[in-house]
Amino acid sequence: MKKYSIFTLAGHALGRHRSWSRAWRDPTPKSSYDVVIVGGGGHGLATAYYLASEHGVTNVAVVEKDWIGGGNTGRNTTIVRSNYLWDEAAHLYEKSLVLWESLSQELNFNVMFSQRGVMNLGHNLQDMRDIYRRSNANKLNGIDSEILTAKKISEIVPIINTSPYARYPILGASFQRRGGIARHDAVAWGFARAADSLGVDILQDCEVTAVRRNNGRVEGVETSRGFIGAKKIGVVAAGHSSVIAEMAGLRMPIESHPLQALVSEPIKPILHTVVMSNAVHGYISQSPKGELVIGAGVDSYLGYGQRGSFSTIEGNIAAIVELFPIFSRVRMLRQWGGIVDVCPDACPIISKTSVDGLYFNCGWGTGGFKATPGSGWVFAHTIARNEPHGLNAAFGINRFVSGALIDEHGAAGVAH
Ligand SMILES: Cc1cc2nc3c(=O)[nH]c(=O)nc-3n(C[C@H](O)[C@H](O)[C@H](O)COP(=O)(O)OP(=O)(O)OC[C@H]3O[C@@H](n4cnc5c(N)ncnc54)[C@H](O)[C@@H]3O)c2cc1C
Repeated sequence: MKKYSIFTLAGHALGRHRSWSRAWRDPTPKSSYDVVIVGGGGHGLATAYYLASEHGVTNVAVVEKDWIGGGNTGRNTTIVRSNYLWDEAAHLYEKSLVLWESLSQELNFNVMFSQRGVMNLGHNLQDMRDIYRRSNANKLNGIDSEILTAKKISEIVPIINTSPYARYPILGASFQRRGGIARHDAVAWGFARAADSLGVDILQDCEVTAVRRNNGRVEGVETSRGFIGAKKIGVVAAGHSSVIAEMAGLRMPIESHPLQALVSEPIKPILHTVVMSNAVHGYISQSPKGELVIGAGVDSYLGYGQRGSFSTIEGNIAAIVELFPIFSRVRMLRQWGGIVDVCPDACPIISKTSVDGLYFNCGWGTGGFKATPGSGWVFAHTIARNEPHGLNAAFGINRFVSGALIDEHGAAGVAH
């Protein structure tokens, strides 16, 4: 991999940036690979990278129907945290957070991970009980967590409305200082560049249309660029997981919902942390460019249109203005939607399947961006060794048969 550094940048600047080489190749698909990863989002690219870097499996293709990072990876609001309630989820997200902390160095690509803290507000007695419970559980798992009073919140975020006369007054919050945000495109590009340099083929504009099986084993995938043979297939297609599962004769316990987000016009730096509220139903951060990045929960209907309904964002903006009356005259610049795959227990599936050589990583719902490196890391292990890592053993598809669900609705919910 060509090393990026301040000297490379200066050298290219002197050459008027005419001599940059491509960050990854645009190869012709081979007739077969050891592993084909379906889906060129952050999770798929991370899986390919860790397959090559951790397990020496380099004969790998990432097959993407559009362009890499054009799905939820490039549409999300980039909140990263690990303060989940149950041990299994907390350990998985914490592994990811630890990987985030050195990801720019590992990939030699600035993913702009900014640990500015994530605050989850409590507005009533039950919210606060839940916050204490989760915060205590986090501490028992070695995950940083603080409880803030309303006074402390207004010291950290002076523009928030902590009036006791608000419709839902702010009573306190949990605060994870190691949480924050990252640059979504850079995450996809960083993993793509690093995976490519280890020999992984990234095949864009290549849609999987069928999964070919024989005697209960995978043989490969039919794609818009022809048949590609594969000994193993890892599917990481987010909102379209059920569609691909159906191609392989499987039924996923997943619902696909639109999830929307908005950004405002850029304003001067004023909000230095991430603020989320499940009760009024909204969250907000400020990007390094100055835009306010805003979101809420899913649109309640099912669908594959990457849009969403106006009433959802109307409620979302009302919540934000209630928390931050100062933002009432800020203009919104853009709004968009992505399709998220939601599991009944608000936890992912990272698993082998009943088809030999077929693996699924899906069901991250509204909160999978934060898991990108950790998800790729455990999925690569699962594919390479044909068995889950200890960190994802509890996230098998069989939990929907055994009933051993891990209900993270409290920590997931609107709180991405
Ligand atoms: C508006 C919004 C806000 C969000 N906010 C957050 C947040 O703040 N924090 C957080 O942690 N998470 C958040 N999420 C969730 C997060 O974005 C996802 O969980 C995560 O990005 C999923 O990554 P992925 O790589 O699995 O999916 P994707 O990036 O969607 O990648 C899947 C890829 O599969 C491709 N694909 C689909 N079908 C096929 C096919 N047939 N053949 C080939 N390729 C195919 C798609 O084109 C896509 O590129 C948000 C999501 C949305 C939509």
